[in-house]
Amino acid sequence: MSTTLGELLPWRLAGDRAGRCVACGMDTTSGTPAQLPDTFTVAYKLYAGSVLCPHCAPLFREKSLRTHSWVASQAEFLYLARTEWLTALLKPPEPPFAIYFTLGRQKYGFLPLIRRVSTSRERYWLGTDWNESALLVCRERLIDLLSLAKRLREHGVPKAQMLSAQFAPTTVAKALKEGWDALLGDAEQLRGDPHWEVMVYAVE
Ligand SMILES: [Zn+2]
Repeated sequence: MSTTLGELLPWRLAGDRAGRCVACGMDTTSGTPAQLPDTFTVAYKLYAGSVLCPHCAPLFREKSLRTHSWVASQAEFLYLARTEWLTALLKPPEPPFAIYFTLGRQKYGFLPLIRRVSTSRERYWLGTDWNESALLVCRERLIDLLSLAKRLREHGVPKAQMLSAQFAPTTVAKALKEGWDALLGDAEQLRGDPHWEVMVYAVE
C-alpha cells in the first residue's frame, strides 16, 4: 500500500503537466506547475521535480488544512475541535488514516505526513505544528499518560506548568497540603517527552 496524504483528502487539482511531484515524489501526467517558496524545500525536504500531482496540489491551496486540526481516512475527512483531540488519539479511524493537530493555525505542519499515512491504530503518525517532524505515537503510551494528565488537571494545575514542570509555589503548596505532590514529581520526569506534550494539549 502506497497511500499518500493527498490521496486520503477530498480535494483534487489536476493540470496537464507531466513530471515528478515535488511533494510525494510520484510521477504524474496531470500535474500543475510547482511554484513553492524556497523555504518549503528546506523545511519539508521536498523531492526534486517541477510539478505537483493532483493529490498533493490541494495541500498547498486549501487553507482550511492549515487553520484546522483534522483527521482523514478513506471513509471520511473531519475537522476536529480541540475537545475532540483526545478521542481522535485514542480511537483513530480504520487505517489508512492521517491526523493533524494545530495550535497556531498557520503552519504547513501536516506536510511531514505526505508519505507517512498511518497503517496501524496502535502505532501511528501524528502531524503537529509544534514539532518539525511527525511523531510516531504509541497509543498504549498515551493511555498510560492519560490518568496523570487528568489528575493534575482535576487538581487545577495549569497546562503550561504541566509542560514545563516549573510549578508555581501555590501549586506546590496546594499539592503538599492535599497530599498529591507525588504527581508533580511524575510530571517532572516527563518534561520534554513528545507523548506527554500531546497528552497535555489534548486533555480537557
Ligand atoms: Zn504528489
